[in-house]
Amino acid sequence: MIFIELINSEHIHGPDHVDDHLDKAEWLYEALKAWGFEIRDIAPWVGPLRELRIVLRAAVAELMEFGQLNEANISQLNSFLGPITYRYRVDLDAEGKTALRGTFEDQSPTHVIALGFCRYLENEDMKRLKLCENTRCREAFIDPTRNKSKKWCASNACGNLTKVRAFRARKAVQVKNEKS
Ligand SMILES: [Zn+2]
Repeated sequence: MIFIELINSEHIHGPDHVDDHLDKAEWLYEALKAWGFEIRDIAPWVGPLRELRIVLRAAVAELMEFGQLNEANISQLNSFLGPITYRYRVDLDAEGKTALRGTFEDQSPTHVIALGFCRYLENEDMKRLKLCENTRCREAFIDPTRNKSKKWCASNACGNLTKVRAFRARKAVQVKNEKS
């Protein structure tokens, strides 16, 4: 999902070490292309994308803590929603069947990404939308587990943290049982 990729373009390694992919022109050019935008001059988009990223991260944090967005989240999202022109073309596929393909005409990634986020909240289970509980990571992810219990992202470091904690928890129960 594009909005998840945008949030995670701020790659947090620790309190003093953040790798911001938006600073890398090549990364941003390729990402925009992969998201469906052919934008030659990407420089003007760095600022708005960074602002939208702050808004999205704050919205996910609010959802995790309170289960709903606050008024500030709503007005921030509205400031990023705008007109979107989607141009369809009809084509024939290899078997001769018609195939519709579409591209964004107005080339406004912030409108499209903000809309994608709002659509997700409306159509999907927003309780699955999370930021990794490792405070040195905070990566955004969709929790696929049935009981929505996943706390850490899929990265090795955070996964190992999960294992270490589970081990410690088991150990604590063991010690308690041995004492009683
Ligand atoms: Zn993580």
